[in-house]
Amino acid sequence: MLDTSIAPDRDARILRGDVLDLVQDPGFAAPDEGAGPRYRVDHLVLLAGGRIQAVLPASESLPPEWRGVPIEDHRGRLILPGFIDTHVHCPQLDVIASFGTELLDWLNTYTFPAERRYADPQVSYQGAERFLRALWSHGTTSAVVFPTVHKVSAEALFRRAADAGMRLITGKVLMNRHAPEGLLDDVDQAERDCLDLIDRWHGRDRQAFAVTVQFAPCSTLEQLAMAGRLCQHHGGVYMQTHVAENRDEVRWVAELFPDARSYLDVYDRDGLIGPRAVRAHGIWLDDDDRAVLREHGAQIAHSPSSNLFLGSGLFNWRQAEDAGVAVSLASDVGGGTSLSMLRTMHDAYKIQALQGQRLTAWKALYTATRGAARHLGLDDEIGRVEPGLMADLTIWDLAVGEVARHRDSLASSLHERVFAWMTLGDDRNLVSTLVAGQTRYRRPG
Ligand SMILES: [Zn+2]
Repeated sequence: MLDTSIAPDRDARILRGDVLDLVQDPGFAAPDEGAGPRYRVDHLVLLAGGRIQAVLPASESLPPEWRGVPIEDHRGRLILPGFIDTHVHCPQLDVIASFGTELLDWLNTYTFPAERRYADPQVSYQGAERFLRALWSHGTTSAVVFPTVHKVSAEALFRRAADAGMRLITGKVLMNRHAPEGLLDDVDQAERDCLDLIDRWHGRDRQAFAVTVQFAPCSTLEQLAMAGRLCQHHGGVYMQTHVAENRDEVRWVAELFPDARSYLDVYDRDGLIGPRAVRAHGIWLDDDDRAVLREHGAQIAHSPSSNLFLGSGLFNWRQAEDAGVAVSLASDVGGGTSLSMLRTMHDAYKIQALQGQRLTAWKALYTATRGAARHLGLDDEIGRVEPGLMADLTIWDLAVGEVARHRDSLASSLHERVFAWMTLGDDRNLVSTLVAGQTRYRRPG
């Protein structure tokens, strides 16, 4: 369908390639049994005004006003919606791939010392720049991001993402205990900082504020109550935190909050769980917790690479979805070892395989695109290659290198090809990334 009311502007362009997106949730059905992909071989994607204007078979003639608009020829390549990473830490690029610890030691040994440097505005701005470029160079065009406790670290991300027209959800981290000096805020100042960021950034362009609790052990009851008030009084803000990642962490929370029924209950009592809440991990939850998440429409950001690297545990995706809990996919860098959502998907496959489940390429792709968009309430903006949605797109080679090309040549179905891409591919397969119709990454050479 072409919205002819929007004529091509000066930035208009057309991409030609094989358009692949997942419109429906395939669930845990076999590749050829559940909802399949929408696969449009050799199509044109018409872009103008930062949005997708039309998707047409290349064999059809272009509308008259689009004739003469440059066509980028990517025949044989995949054109996908940009990936949505629902949980990732900007400052932790500084500590990605750090050896030898589990969660609580890892925070104290590597993460907190690195995060202290972000008090310096120059470090925050350079870090935001490096981080967003890194997301784009891995095919991620939208993200839910943790900065640090410093207001300037959130400010830097908002500013840089807004300059690029990127969809970004973030907010100053709340943390007023159990962290070193230089990483602690106080309740009143933190509230003022959050209110100022909400006022200036929430709903501006594609920026959205998230009430960002590091995790329950790092906030006092007073601070958690303040965070709950922010969520209640500012409709439309997101909320992000961690929950039940590691067993020692769960035991510690039980000691710190003896009145709470469970770790998740600490958040529930302060009104920190709602449809716009994103909780990373959720490995060690019980049936009652899953029922709470379902009732509130809150999502778990499953972070498989991080869970494997830090030895946190095996998230049972099927169990969560059977209980009605929304699940998205996240890199969780720097606990995670790659910003690549392809790597994240194949780590998710392995975690489910260890539990006797099979994650299809369709389910993985759906979750990293339209599924996340739906769970974040952004379905009319991102997640599909559809007229009217933002032109957040990625272009991929299915196979790079001799082994992958050989494997691809032997594949007998689309799922087999795409699954091999998901398993063998990484950022080398990415040809280019567009954010709001602008090229933000192009593969060298
Ligand atoms: Zn995290």
